[in-house]
Amino acid sequence: MHEMYRTMGIDEDVLAFGEEVLEGLKDRWKAIDETAEFNQLKVIAAMQKARVSEACLLGTTGYGYNDIGRDTLEAVYAEIFQTEDALVRPQITCGTHALALALMSNLRPQDELLSPVGKPYDTLEEVIGIRPSKGSLAEYGITYRQVDFLPDGEFDLDGIRNAINEKTKMVTIQRSKGYETRDTLSVERIGELIRFIKEIKSDVICMVDNCYGEFVQRIEPTQVGADLVVGSLIKNPGGGLAPIGGYLAGKKECIENAAVRLTSPGLGKEVGASLGVLPSFFQGLFLAPTVTASALKGAIFAAALYEKLGYEVIPKAEAERYDIIQAVKLKEPGALEAFCRGIQAAAPVDGFVTPEPWDMPGYDAKVIMAAGAFVSGSSIELSADGPMKEPYAVYFQGGLTFPHAKYGMLRSLQEMKNAGYIMTF
Ligand SMILES: *Cc1c(COP(=O)(O)O)cnc(C)c1O
Repeated sequence: MHEMYRTMGIDEDVLAFGEEVLEGLKDRWKAIDETAEFNQLKVIAAMQKARVSEACLLGTTGYGYNDIGRDTLEAVYAEIFQTEDALVRPQITCGTHALALALMSNLRPQDELLSPVGKPYDTLEEVIGIRPSKGSLAEYGITYRQVDFLPDGEFDLDGIRNAINEKTKMVTIQRSKGYETRDTLSVERIGELIRFIKEIKSDVICMVDNCYGEFVQRIEPTQVGADLVVGSLIKNPGGGLAPIGGYLAGKKECIENAAVRLTSPGLGKEVGASLGVLPSFFQGLFLAPTVTASALKGAIFAAALYEKLGYEVIPKAEAERYDIIQAVKLKEPGALEAFCRGIQAAAPVDGFVTPEPWDMPGYDAKVIMAAGAFVSGSSIELSADGPMKEPYAVYFQGGLTFPHAKYGMLRSLQEMKNAGYIMTF
C-alpha cells in the first residue's frame, strides 16, 4: 500500500499522518453506515411501491406523452420525500434552476419572499434580485426580506415574527451552509423553524433548499413540515450517475405550479421527454445513500486532518453532520490554490490540469474550482471550490467512493506541503 501511495505522489510522512487520523475515526463510520443502510432500504421500498419495471428504463422522445419511466420516477421521489407529488426532470438544468422554478412558479407579483436563515446561496441573489439581474423576482414586483441568524447562531425569532406580514407568501430555508460559514441546519431544527413560522402564518409556503442534504439523515425536511424541497441531481440524489437534472418534491399544488411554469400552462407534467437519462436517474438514486455516506466520510476525514494541523474547520471534526460540505479556512490565497491543485491531481478525469481562479456566472468574486468529474460540474463527485476572498475558505465535498475521497485529501496535504504551507505533520 505504501508503495502504491508513493507512486501516486504521496510522501511517507503525509500518508502516516493520514492513517493516524483515520484510525481515530473508525467509530464514526459505524453510524454513517447505519444511516446509509436505512436510506438504502427506504429507496428500495419506494421503488418497489411505485412498481419500477424494466419498461421504466426506456424513456421517450418528442413530447414525451405517457412516459411511464418519468412518471414512475416522480412517484418514487414523492414516496422517498413523503410528499403528495414530485417533479424530477432533465429539463431542469441545475439546482439554481430548480430553485428559481420553485420560487417563480409559486410567487405572484406583490407577494413577498422571506429568508429567515440569512443570505441565501450566491446564485440565488440574482434569482431573487438582491443583486439586480435580468428576469429576477424583483423585476416582477416580488419583494424580499431576510432575517439573519443571531450572533450565537440561533434563529432570530423576534426578527422573523416582525418580518412576516400580509404579503409574505413563501419562506426559503437553506439547509446547507453553502458558501457561508454558519452551521448547516439539521432536519429537526428546520422542523422547529417551520413550526414557529406556521404558528404566525399558517398558509405560508415553506420551501427548503435541500442541496447537499439528501440522505445525510434518516428523515427529510418534508417530513417535518416543509411544503416543498428542492435540489440538484448532480449532487446527492443523482448518486454520481445522473448527468443533469433537478427535482422538486412537495404539495400537489406547489408541484403543479412548477410544472406549468417549466413546460407550459395547460401542459404541466404531461410533456417532457426523458430521452435516455432514466436509467442513470433510477440507478443514481439507488446508489445515492451509499455515495452520500462516502462523501460524508471524506468530509469528516478532511475536517480531522486540517483541524489537527491547526486550521479552523466548519463543521468541527467532532460535529454531527447535516450535509456533505466541509469548509476549511485556509487564510491565504496561495493555500486555497494549493488545496484545489491537490483535489484536481487526484481526479480520474482531467487529473493533469491546474485549476485557476476565474469569474463564474452567478458569483460576485472570482472562484477557484477543482473537479475532475465524469459528469461536468458534478459536486457529489470529489470536488473543491472557494471564492477568492477572505477568509479563503475552501469548500470540499463529494467522493463517489471513500478511497477516492481519502486520496484527494492526502493529495491536498501533499500540495500544501510542497507549496510550503505545512512544514511538519
Ligand atoms: C449547489 C447549490 C445550489 C445551486 O445549485 P447549482 O446546481 O450549482 O445551480 C443552491 N443552493 C445550495 C445550498 C447549493 O449547495
